[in-house]
Amino acid sequence: MHSVLVIGAGVAGLAAARKLTAAGLQVTILEARNRLGGRIHTVRDRTLPIPLELGAEFVHGQPEEIWEIVRDQNLVLGSLEGNHWCSERGVVQQYDDFWQRWEKVAETLKNAKIERDVSFSEFIRGFDFNEETRRTAIGFVEGFNAARADRISVESLRLAQQASDEISGDTPYRILGGYDHVVRWLSSFEGEPKPDINLNTIVHDIEWRRGYVRANQFVAEQAVVTLPLAVLQANIVNFNPPLPAKADAARQLVMGHVIKVILCFQSPFWEDHGISNLAFLHAQDQKFRTWWTTRPVVSPVLVGWAGGTAAEALAGMDDDDLLNAAVSSLAHAVKRSPGALMRELRSYVVADWQIDPFSLGAYSYVPAGAMSAPWALSEPVANTLFFAGEATNVDGHFGTVHGAIATGYRAADEILASREHKAA
Ligand SMILES: Cc1cc2nc3c(=O)[nH]c(=O)nc-3n(C[C@H](O)[C@H](O)[C@H](O)COP(=O)(O)OP(=O)(O)OC[C@H]3O[C@@H](n4cnc5c(N)ncnc54)[C@H](O)[C@@H]3O)c2cc1C
Repeated sequence: MHSVLVIGAGVAGLAAARKLTAAGLQVTILEARNRLGGRIHTVRDRTLPIPLELGAEFVHGQPEEIWEIVRDQNLVLGSLEGNHWCSERGVVQQYDDFWQRWEKVAETLKNAKIERDVSFSEFIRGFDFNEETRRTAIGFVEGFNAARADRISVESLRLAQQASDEISGDTPYRILGGYDHVVRWLSSFEGEPKPDINLNTIVHDIEWRRGYVRANQFVAEQAVVTLPLAVLQANIVNFNPPLPAKADAARQLVMGHVIKVILCFQSPFWEDHGISNLAFLHAQDQKFRTWWTTRPVVSPVLVGWAGGTAAEALAGMDDDDLLNAAVSSLAHAVKRSPGALMRELRSYVVADWQIDPFSLGAYSYVPAGAMSAPWALSEPVANTLFFAGEATNVDGHFGTVHGAIATGYRAADEILASREHKAA
Protein backbone atom coordinates (compact mmCIF):
# COMPACT_ATOMS: atom_id res chain seq x y z
CA MET A 1 0.00 0.00 0.00
CA HIS A 2 1.19 3.50 -0.79
CA SER A 3 2.81 4.95 2.32
CA VAL A 4 3.49 8.49 3.51
CA LEU A 5 5.34 9.83 6.55
CA VAL A 6 3.97 13.04 8.04
CA ILE A 7 6.60 14.80 10.10
CA GLY A 8 5.02 17.09 12.70
CA ALA A 9 1.48 16.89 14.07
CA GLY A 10 0.48 20.53 14.21
CA VAL A 11 -2.55 21.52 12.16
CA ALA A 12 -0.63 21.39 8.85
CA GLY A 13 0.54 17.80 9.41
CA LEU A 14 -2.85 16.68 10.69
CA ALA A 15 -4.67 18.30 7.75
CA ALA A 16 -2.36 16.48 5.32
CA ALA A 17 -2.76 13.18 7.21
CA ARG A 18 -6.55 13.57 7.27
CA LYS A 19 -6.79 14.05 3.52
CA LEU A 20 -4.32 11.28 2.70
CA THR A 21 -6.09 8.85 5.02
CA ALA A 22 -9.44 9.69 3.46
CA ALA A 23 -7.88 8.77 0.11
CA GLY A 24 -6.86 5.34 1.48
CA LEU A 25 -3.11 5.92 1.87
CA GLN A 26 -1.09 4.43 4.75
CA VAL A 27 0.03 7.39 6.86
CA THR A 28 2.56 7.38 9.69
CA ILE A 29 2.75 10.54 11.83
CA LEU A 30 5.96 11.38 13.68
CA GLU A 31 5.61 14.04 16.36
CA ALA A 32 8.27 15.20 18.80
CA ARG A 33 5.90 16.37 21.53
CA ASN A 34 3.72 14.23 23.76
CA ARG A 35 0.60 15.85 22.28
CA LEU A 36 -0.97 16.80 18.96
CA GLY A 37 -1.56 20.40 17.88
CA GLY A 38 1.89 22.03 17.95
CA ARG A 39 1.37 25.76 18.21
CA ILE A 40 -2.25 25.27 19.26
CA HIS A 41 -2.01 24.53 22.96
CA THR A 42 -5.21 24.83 24.97
CA VAL A 43 -5.14 24.29 28.73
CA ARG A 44 -8.05 24.15 31.13
CA ASP A 45 -8.46 25.38 34.68
CA ARG A 46 -11.73 24.19 36.21
CA THR A 47 -12.12 27.39 38.18
CA LEU A 48 -12.20 29.50 35.00
CA PRO A 49 -15.20 29.81 32.67
CA ILE A 50 -13.05 29.56 29.53
CA PRO A 51 -9.99 27.56 28.44
CA LEU A 52 -6.63 29.31 28.22
CA GLU A 53 -4.77 29.43 24.92
CA LEU A 54 -0.98 29.34 25.21
CA GLY A 55 -0.55 29.48 21.44
CA ALA A 56 -3.10 30.43 18.77
CA GLU A 57 -6.17 32.07 20.25
CA PHE A 58 -8.19 33.83 17.55
CA VAL A 59 -9.90 32.78 14.37
CA HIS A 60 -9.22 35.64 11.99
CA GLY A 61 -12.50 36.23 10.19
CA GLN A 62 -14.23 33.43 8.33
CA PRO A 63 -11.62 31.17 6.73
CA GLU A 64 -13.28 28.09 5.25
CA GLU A 65 -10.59 25.78 6.67
CA ILE A 66 -11.85 26.57 10.18
CA TRP A 67 -15.50 27.39 9.55
CA GLU A 68 -15.95 23.97 7.97
CA ILE A 69 -14.99 22.51 11.36
CA VAL A 70 -17.11 25.01 13.26
CA ARG A 71 -20.18 23.99 11.24
CA ASP A 72 -19.47 20.28 11.41
CA GLN A 73 -18.91 20.27 15.17
CA ASN A 74 -21.45 22.98 16.05
CA LEU A 75 -18.69 24.90 17.78
CA VAL A 76 -19.66 28.15 19.43
CA LEU A 77 -17.61 31.17 18.41
CA GLY A 78 -17.64 34.49 20.19
CA SER A 79 -16.56 37.81 18.77
CA LEU A 80 -14.43 40.12 20.81
CA GLU A 81 -16.60 43.18 20.68
CA GLY A 82 -15.76 45.59 23.45
CA ASN A 83 -13.75 48.72 24.04
CA HIS A 84 -10.18 49.41 23.11
CA TRP A 85 -8.39 51.31 25.85
CA CYS A 86 -5.03 52.99 25.59
CA SER A 87 -2.58 53.80 28.33
CA GLU A 88 0.18 56.24 27.59
CA ARG A 89 2.26 58.62 29.67
CA GLY A 90 0.19 57.88 32.75
CA VAL A 91 -3.21 58.49 31.12
CA VAL A 92 -5.73 55.67 30.53
CA GLN A 93 -8.41 56.50 28.02
CA GLN A 94 -10.76 54.87 25.57
CA TYR A 95 -9.17 54.32 22.18
CA ASP A 96 -12.24 54.26 19.98
CA ASP A 97 -10.45 55.09 16.76
CA PHE A 98 -7.86 52.27 16.98
CA TRP A 99 -9.28 50.38 14.00
CA GLN A 100 -9.96 53.55 11.97
CA ARG A 101 -6.29 54.50 12.32
CA TRP A 102 -5.14 51.08 11.17
CA GLU A 103 -7.70 50.99 8.34
CA LYS A 104 -6.37 54.28 7.00
CA VAL A 105 -2.90 52.75 6.78
CA ALA A 106 -4.27 49.43 5.46
CA GLU A 107 -6.05 51.27 2.62
CA THR A 108 -2.82 53.05 1.72
CA LEU A 109 -1.00 49.73 1.84
CA LYS A 110 -3.46 48.15 -0.58
CA ASN A 111 -3.57 51.05 -3.03
CA ALA A 112 -0.04 52.49 -2.99
CA LYS A 113 2.13 51.96 -6.02
CA ILE A 114 5.06 49.99 -4.66
CA GLU A 115 8.01 50.05 -7.05
CA ARG A 116 10.39 48.13 -4.83
CA ASP A 117 9.67 45.86 -1.88
CA VAL A 118 10.81 47.69 1.26
CA SER A 119 10.26 47.30 4.98
CA PHE A 120 7.05 48.59 6.56
CA SER A 121 9.03 51.30 8.43
CA GLU A 122 10.48 52.57 5.19
CA PHE A 123 7.09 52.41 3.46
CA ILE A 124 5.23 54.37 6.11
CA ARG A 125 7.90 57.07 6.19
CA GLY A 126 6.85 57.96 2.63
CA PHE A 127 3.35 59.02 3.72
CA ASP A 128 2.04 61.96 5.63
CA PHE A 129 0.37 60.16 8.54
CA ASN A 130 0.28 61.94 11.87
CA GLU A 131 2.50 60.65 14.66
CA GLU A 132 -0.36 58.86 16.47
CA THR A 133 -1.43 56.95 13.38
CA ARG A 134 2.15 56.04 12.55
CA ARG A 135 2.77 54.69 16.07
CA THR A 136 -0.51 52.77 16.06
CA ALA A 137 0.30 51.21 12.70
CA ILE A 138 3.87 50.23 13.65
CA GLY A 139 2.67 48.81 16.98
CA PHE A 140 -0.06 46.83 15.24
CA VAL A 141 2.19 45.46 12.49
CA GLU A 142 4.85 44.42 15.00
CA GLY A 143 2.41 42.90 17.49
CA PHE A 144 0.16 41.11 15.00
CA ASN A 145 2.91 39.76 12.76
CA ALA A 146 5.41 39.15 15.57
CA ALA A 147 7.76 41.08 13.33
CA ARG A 148 10.16 43.97 13.26
CA ALA A 149 8.62 46.87 11.34
CA ASP A 150 12.07 47.69 9.98
CA ARG A 151 12.31 44.21 8.40
CA ILE A 152 8.87 42.96 7.38
CA SER A 153 8.13 43.18 3.65
CA VAL A 154 5.50 45.70 2.63
CA GLU A 155 4.57 43.45 -0.32
CA SER A 156 3.86 40.60 2.11
CA LEU A 157 1.73 42.93 4.25
CA ARG A 158 -0.19 44.02 1.18
CA LEU A 159 -0.84 40.42 0.14
CA ALA A 160 -1.81 39.54 3.72
CA GLN A 161 -4.24 42.47 3.92
CA GLN A 162 -5.87 41.47 0.61
CA ALA A 163 -6.15 37.85 1.74
CA SER A 164 -7.55 38.97 5.08
CA ASP A 165 -10.15 41.24 3.44
CA GLU A 166 -11.49 38.25 1.50
CA ILE A 167 -12.37 36.45 4.72
CA SER A 168 -13.23 39.54 6.85
CA GLY A 169 -10.02 38.74 8.70
CA ASP A 170 -10.02 41.94 10.75
CA THR A 171 -12.88 40.52 12.84
CA PRO A 172 -11.40 38.14 15.40
CA TYR A 173 -13.40 35.33 16.98
CA ARG A 174 -12.54 32.84 19.64
CA ILE A 175 -13.69 29.23 19.87
CA LEU A 176 -15.31 29.30 23.28
CA GLY A 177 -14.75 25.61 23.95
CA GLY A 178 -11.04 25.89 23.06
CA TYR A 179 -8.94 26.02 19.87
CA ASP A 180 -8.01 22.38 20.42
CA HIS A 181 -11.41 21.42 18.99
CA VAL A 182 -9.84 22.15 15.60
CA VAL A 183 -7.00 19.75 16.42
CA ARG A 184 -9.46 17.07 17.54
CA TRP A 185 -11.47 17.35 14.33
CA LEU A 186 -8.39 17.23 12.13
CA SER A 187 -7.22 14.11 13.99
CA SER A 188 -10.57 12.33 13.87
CA PHE A 189 -9.54 10.42 10.77
CA GLU A 190 -12.10 9.10 8.36
CA GLY A 191 -11.14 6.19 6.12
CA GLU A 192 -8.97 3.13 6.58
CA PRO A 193 -6.31 2.33 7.54
CA LYS A 194 -6.10 4.89 10.38
CA PRO A 195 -2.75 6.66 10.62
CA ASP A 196 -0.09 5.26 12.88
CA ILE A 197 0.51 8.16 15.32
CA ASN A 198 3.89 8.23 17.05
CA LEU A 199 4.22 10.87 19.78
CA ASN A 200 7.49 11.61 21.64
CA THR A 201 9.29 10.86 18.38
CA ILE A 202 11.92 13.46 17.56
CA VAL A 203 13.10 13.19 13.97
CA HIS A 204 16.82 13.97 13.60
CA ASP A 205 17.63 12.64 10.12
CA ILE A 206 15.62 12.34 6.96
CA GLU A 207 17.30 10.06 4.44
CA TRP A 208 15.68 10.08 1.05
CA ARG A 209 15.91 9.22 -2.61
CA ARG A 210 13.18 9.28 -5.25
CA GLY A 211 10.27 7.17 -3.99
CA TYR A 212 11.91 6.39 -0.62
CA VAL A 213 12.08 8.26 2.70
CA ARG A 214 13.43 7.11 6.04
CA ALA A 215 13.04 9.12 9.25
CA ASN A 216 14.41 7.37 12.35
CA GLN A 217 13.30 3.75 11.81
CA PHE A 218 10.20 4.72 9.81
CA VAL A 219 10.20 4.16 6.06
CA ALA A 220 7.70 5.25 3.39
CA GLU A 221 7.50 6.20 -0.27
CA GLN A 222 6.84 9.90 0.30
CA ALA A 223 6.86 12.37 3.20
CA VAL A 224 5.18 15.60 4.20
CA VAL A 225 7.59 17.75 6.21
CA THR A 226 5.84 20.32 8.42
CA LEU A 227 8.75 21.35 10.62
CA PRO A 228 8.47 24.96 11.83
CA LEU A 229 10.66 27.49 10.02
CA ALA A 230 13.10 28.00 12.91
CA VAL A 231 13.58 24.24 13.28
CA LEU A 232 14.49 24.08 9.58
CA GLN A 233 16.81 27.09 9.97
CA ALA A 234 18.59 25.56 12.98
CA ASN A 235 19.54 22.44 10.94
CA ILE A 236 18.35 20.25 13.81
CA VAL A 237 16.98 17.82 11.25
CA ASN A 238 19.53 16.65 8.68
CA PHE A 239 18.36 15.88 5.19
CA ASN A 240 20.50 13.32 3.45
CA PRO A 241 21.22 14.18 0.67
CA PRO A 242 20.98 17.85 1.73
CA LEU A 243 18.44 20.29 0.25
CA PRO A 244 20.40 23.49 -0.43
CA ALA A 245 17.48 25.29 -2.13
CA LYS A 246 15.28 24.65 0.92
CA ALA A 247 18.00 25.77 3.30
CA ASP A 248 18.42 28.93 1.27
CA ALA A 249 14.66 29.66 1.24
CA ALA A 250 14.43 29.05 5.00
CA ARG A 251 17.37 31.38 5.61
CA GLN A 252 15.61 34.20 3.75
CA LEU A 253 12.53 34.09 6.00
CA VAL A 254 12.32 35.21 9.61
CA MET A 255 10.78 33.48 12.61
CA GLY A 256 8.90 36.06 14.68
CA HIS A 257 9.00 36.11 18.46
CA VAL A 258 6.05 36.13 20.86
CA ILE A 259 5.82 35.88 24.63
CA LYS A 260 2.38 35.48 26.13
CA VAL A 261 1.71 35.88 29.86
CA ILE A 262 -1.76 34.90 31.06
CA LEU A 263 -2.74 36.42 34.39
CA CYS A 264 -5.70 35.00 36.32
CA PHE A 265 -6.85 37.40 39.03
CA GLN A 266 -9.38 37.04 41.85
CA SER A 267 -11.79 39.29 39.94
CA PRO A 268 -11.91 41.50 36.84
CA PHE A 269 -10.61 44.39 38.96
CA TRP A 270 -10.13 46.73 35.98
CA GLU A 271 -13.91 47.10 35.65
CA ASP A 272 -13.97 48.68 39.14
CA HIS A 273 -11.30 51.10 38.06
CA GLY A 274 -13.32 52.64 35.26
CA ILE A 275 -11.81 50.52 32.46
CA SER A 276 -15.18 49.30 31.32
CA ASN A 277 -16.20 46.81 28.69
CA LEU A 278 -12.51 46.07 28.07
CA ALA A 279 -11.57 44.05 24.99
CA PHE A 280 -8.03 45.34 24.29
CA LEU A 281 -5.70 47.51 26.31
CA HIS A 282 -2.79 49.11 24.44
CA ALA A 283 0.24 50.12 26.48
CA GLN A 284 2.66 51.15 23.78
CA ASP A 285 5.40 52.39 26.08
CA GLN A 286 5.49 49.11 28.05
CA LYS A 287 7.32 45.78 27.65
CA PHE A 288 3.99 43.95 27.29
CA ARG A 289 2.28 46.34 24.91
CA THR A 290 -1.02 44.59 24.26
CA TRP A 291 -3.47 43.09 26.70
CA TRP A 292 -6.84 41.50 26.12
CA THR A 293 -9.66 39.96 28.07
CA THR A 294 -11.51 36.73 27.32
CA ARG A 295 -14.47 38.56 25.79
CA PRO A 296 -17.22 37.75 25.08
CA VAL A 297 -16.83 35.61 28.19
CA VAL A 298 -16.41 37.73 31.30
CA SER A 299 -13.60 36.33 33.44
CA PRO A 300 -10.85 37.58 35.73
CA VAL A 301 -8.20 36.76 33.08
CA LEU A 302 -5.95 39.17 31.20
CA VAL A 303 -3.61 38.01 28.45
CA GLY A 304 -0.42 40.02 27.95
CA TRP A 305 1.28 39.90 24.55
CA ALA A 306 4.80 40.93 23.59
CA GLY A 307 5.42 40.39 19.88
CA GLY A 308 8.23 41.35 17.51
CA THR A 309 10.70 43.86 18.95
CA ALA A 310 8.88 43.79 22.30
CA ALA A 311 9.48 40.04 22.60
CA GLU A 312 13.07 40.36 21.40
CA ALA A 313 13.73 42.81 24.23
CA LEU A 314 12.57 40.16 26.75
CA ALA A 315 14.67 37.33 25.30
CA GLY A 316 16.57 35.23 27.81
CA MET A 317 14.36 36.09 30.83
CA ASP A 318 13.08 33.24 32.96
CA ASP A 319 9.41 32.79 33.88
CA ASP A 320 9.71 34.78 37.14
CA ASP A 321 11.30 37.74 35.35
CA LEU A 322 8.68 37.56 32.60
CA LEU A 323 5.87 37.51 35.18
CA ASN A 324 7.38 40.53 36.91
CA ALA A 325 7.80 42.37 33.60
CA ALA A 326 4.20 41.60 32.63
CA VAL A 327 2.74 42.64 35.99
CA SER A 328 4.79 45.81 35.99
CA SER A 329 3.61 46.66 32.41
CA LEU A 330 0.00 46.06 33.41
CA ALA A 331 0.34 47.97 36.69
CA HIS A 332 1.68 50.94 34.79
CA ALA A 333 -1.10 50.69 32.21
CA VAL A 334 -3.95 50.50 34.73
CA LYS A 335 -2.31 52.89 37.20
CA ARG A 336 -2.02 50.44 40.10
CA SER A 337 1.06 49.29 41.95
CA PRO A 338 2.72 45.98 40.92
CA GLY A 339 2.39 44.84 44.55
CA ALA A 340 -1.37 45.43 44.50
CA LEU A 341 -1.73 43.39 41.30
CA MET A 342 0.45 40.60 42.65
CA ARG A 343 -1.83 40.37 45.69
CA GLU A 344 -4.85 39.98 43.40
CA LEU A 345 -3.13 37.39 41.21
CA ARG A 346 -4.40 33.85 41.68
CA SER A 347 -2.38 32.02 39.04
CA TYR A 348 -0.46 32.67 35.83
CA VAL A 349 0.97 30.95 32.78
CA VAL A 350 4.03 32.06 30.80
CA ALA A 351 4.34 30.88 27.19
CA ASP A 352 7.71 31.80 25.70
CA TRP A 353 7.64 30.20 22.25
CA GLN A 354 11.20 31.23 21.57
CA ILE A 355 12.58 28.65 23.99
CA ASP A 356 10.20 25.89 22.91
CA PRO A 357 12.62 23.43 21.25
CA PHE A 358 9.99 22.26 18.75
CA SER A 359 9.02 25.67 17.41
CA LEU A 360 11.95 27.98 18.39
CA GLY A 361 9.71 30.98 17.79
CA ALA A 362 6.08 31.92 17.25
CA TYR A 363 5.40 32.23 13.53
CA SER A 364 7.20 33.31 10.39
CA TYR A 365 7.22 36.50 8.40
CA VAL A 366 8.62 37.57 5.06
CA PRO A 367 11.33 40.25 5.21
CA ALA A 368 11.64 42.89 2.48
CA GLY A 369 12.88 41.40 -0.78
CA ALA A 370 12.10 37.75 0.09
CA MET A 371 8.63 37.33 -1.42
CA SER A 372 9.70 34.30 -3.45
CA ALA A 373 11.03 32.40 -0.39
CA PRO A 374 7.69 30.89 0.79
CA TRP A 375 7.21 29.53 -2.75
CA ALA A 376 10.68 28.00 -2.75
CA LEU A 377 10.06 26.49 0.67
CA SER A 378 6.74 24.98 -0.40
CA GLU A 379 7.93 23.25 -3.57
CA PRO A 380 8.04 19.44 -3.60
CA VAL A 381 11.37 17.69 -4.14
CA ALA A 382 11.55 14.80 -6.61
CA ASN A 383 7.90 13.88 -6.00
CA THR A 384 9.12 12.44 -2.72
CA LEU A 385 9.44 15.22 -0.14
CA PHE A 386 6.49 17.59 0.22
CA PHE A 387 6.46 20.67 2.42
CA ALA A 388 3.67 22.17 4.50
CA GLY A 389 3.38 24.36 7.60
CA GLU A 390 2.55 28.00 8.13
CA ALA A 391 5.83 29.26 6.65
CA THR A 392 5.01 27.59 3.32
CA ASN A 393 1.74 29.49 2.81
CA VAL A 394 1.94 31.54 -0.38
CA ASP A 395 -1.60 32.97 -0.40
CA GLY A 396 -1.06 35.75 2.13
CA HIS A 397 -2.49 33.79 5.07
CA PHE A 398 0.91 33.93 6.74
CA GLY A 399 1.41 32.84 10.33
CA THR A 400 -2.15 31.67 10.93
CA VAL A 401 -3.94 28.46 11.80
CA HIS A 402 -6.13 28.50 8.71
CA GLY A 403 -3.12 29.30 6.52
CA ALA A 404 -1.25 26.32 7.99
CA ILE A 405 -4.22 23.97 7.48
CA ALA A 406 -4.42 25.10 3.84
CA THR A 407 -0.78 24.11 3.30
CA GLY A 408 -1.47 20.64 4.73
CA TYR A 409 -4.33 20.11 2.29
CA ARG A 410 -2.18 21.47 -0.54
CA ALA A 411 0.66 19.03 0.23
CA ALA A 412 -1.83 16.12 0.37
CA ASP A 413 -3.23 17.18 -3.02
CA GLU A 414 0.30 17.28 -4.44
CA ILE A 415 0.93 13.72 -3.23
CA LEU A 416 -2.37 12.46 -4.62
CA ALA A 417 -1.68 14.19 -7.95
CA SER A 418 1.82 12.68 -8.11
CA ARG A 419 0.31 9.20 -7.69
CA GLU A 420 -2.31 9.76 -10.39
CA HIS A 421 0.46 10.95 -12.64
CA LYS A 422 2.47 7.80 -11.91
CA ALA A 423 -0.56 5.57 -12.48
CA ALA A 424 -1.41 7.22 -15.80
C1 LIG B 1 1.74 32.58 20.72
C2 LIG B 1 1.08 32.31 19.40
C3 LIG B 1 -0.12 32.90 19.10
C4 LIG B 1 -0.74 32.65 17.88
N1 LIG B 1 -1.96 33.22 17.65
C5 LIG B 1 -2.64 32.89 16.54
C6 LIG B 1 -3.99 33.30 16.39
O1 LIG B 1 -4.56 33.95 17.26
N2 LIG B 1 -4.63 32.94 15.24
C7 LIG B 1 -4.02 32.21 14.26
O2 LIG B 1 -4.66 31.93 13.22
N3 LIG B 1 -2.73 31.80 14.40
C8 LIG B 1 -2.05 32.10 15.53
N4 LIG B 1 -0.78 31.63 15.71
C9 LIG B 1 -0.10 30.92 14.61
C10 LIG B 1 -0.55 29.45 14.52
O3 LIG B 1 -0.54 28.87 15.80
C11 LIG B 1 0.41 28.69 13.62
O4 LIG B 1 0.53 29.35 12.36
C12 LIG B 1 -0.04 27.26 13.34
O5 LIG B 1 -0.55 26.64 14.48
C13 LIG B 1 1.16 26.51 12.78
O6 LIG B 1 0.79 25.18 12.47
P1 LIG B 1 1.89 24.24 11.79
O7 LIG B 1 1.29 22.90 11.67
O8 LIG B 1 2.44 24.90 10.59
O9 LIG B 1 3.11 24.20 12.83
P2 LIG B 1 3.19 23.55 14.28
O10 LIG B 1 1.90 23.66 14.98
O11 LIG B 1 4.37 24.13 14.94
O12 LIG B 1 3.44 22.00 13.96
C14 LIG B 1 4.72 21.49 13.67
C15 LIG B 1 4.92 20.25 14.52
O13 LIG B 1 6.24 19.72 14.28
C16 LIG B 1 6.71 19.19 15.49
N5 LIG B 1 8.17 19.06 15.44
C17 LIG B 1 9.10 20.03 15.55
N6 LIG B 1 10.34 19.51 15.43
C18 LIG B 1 10.19 18.17 15.25
C19 LIG B 1 11.07 17.08 15.07
N7 LIG B 1 12.42 17.24 15.04
N8 LIG B 1 10.56 15.81 14.93
C20 LIG B 1 9.22 15.61 14.95
N9 LIG B 1 8.32 16.62 15.11
C21 LIG B 1 8.80 17.88 15.26
C22 LIG B 1 6.23 20.20 16.52
O14 LIG B 1 6.24 19.66 17.83
C23 LIG B 1 4.84 20.55 16.02
O15 LIG B 1 3.85 19.74 16.63
C24 LIG B 1 -0.14 31.84 16.92
C25 LIG B 1 1.08 31.22 17.22
C26 LIG B 1 1.69 31.44 18.45
C27 LIG B 1 2.99 30.77 18.78
